[in-house]
Amino acid sequence: MPFYDWVRKHDPADLIADEVDWIEGLQDLGQAEMDWISYLRREGDRLLNLSDGGLGPTGVVWTEEMREAASVRGTGRKGSSRPGAANPFYGGKHSLEQRNRWSQDRKGTNSGTANPNYGRFGAEHPSFRHTVSAETRQLLSEAKKGAGNPNFGKKASAETRAKMSAVRKGRPMPSSQRNAHTRHHINKGIEKADCKYCVEDSAKPSLSSESESES
Ligand SMILES: [Zn+2]
Repeated sequence: MPFYDWVRKHDPADLIADEVDWIEGLQDLGQAEMDWISYLRREGDRLLNLSDGGLGPTGVVWTEEMREAASVRGTGRKGSSRPGAANPFYGGKHSLEQRNRWSQDRKGTNSGTANPNYGRFGAEHPSFRHTVSAETRQLLSEAKKGAGNPNFGKKASAETRAKMSAVRKGRPMPSSQRNAHTRHHINKGIEKADCKYCVEDSAKPSLSSESESES
């Protein structure tokens, strides 16, 4: 179990447990876990989860006996996790040096052929056909905005920007999203549900026709 292996590599006093979600009920919990795992994988987070989570065929539903056995195993074990303010490191922050050490330590541990999902495509991949509920999407979107975004405040190097520019050279690009909407949606008579200008436009006429029919 990679998570347990990982925990054992570290001083328990240096670990932080963040609560990302609060779920009631086993079914919702399983779904939430799958949603988080698939979202964070897409975002490029280095997760320790090897399966796609949830309580389905890839997940584990704990029986009373398993719970009991785990409880016996865990009793008296040094460095069991204490949440929130009960954790001795609560509110603490690790030094840059320590974080770099861990980063180096993790580097490559799940990359390339070492990744259990290496070479798995389409239906073979655990995230195949995964969808995330609109509410969860919204929640995760908010969490990754501004300073919550791993790229927040970062700027590509001049070299990288030159490369990106070279790739785009000669390709006509709409100067704005509205411009793209006009060219590719209005002019072609197409309405896209995920285009905010299409949604705005379709909302306006229906409002005015309602008020007309009332009078
Ligand atoms: Zn549009």
